[in-house]
Amino acid sequence: MPAKGYVEIDKEVCKGCNLCVLNCPTKCLALNTADTNSHGLHYAYLADEEKCIACMNCSVMCPDAAITVYKKAE
Ligand code: SF4
Ligand code: SF4
Repeated sequence: MPAKGYVEIDKEVCKGCNLCVLNCPTKCLALNTADTNSHGLHYAYLADEEKCIACMNCSVMCPDAAITVYKKAE
């Protein structure tokens, strides 16, 4: 079974470019269209924690290093 993961996204650093959302293989990230950060931008968030497999694609893709990935203990 793939590892379970969790990501933290610094919403003030995120510029809402959507790259992480598009490159997440399990489609567990989304842009928060209901809220904005202090820059007026929709930021990414972990929409479905159950689906995160800690693959780190999102953190590698993020141009602003806004994402930290954690592996949950098995
Ligand atoms: S670590 Fe992988 S599965 Fe988890 S949110 Fe990032 S891209 Fe998606
Ligand atoms: S790739 Fe980084 S800057 Fe772009 S939406 Fe995701 S967290 Fe935000």
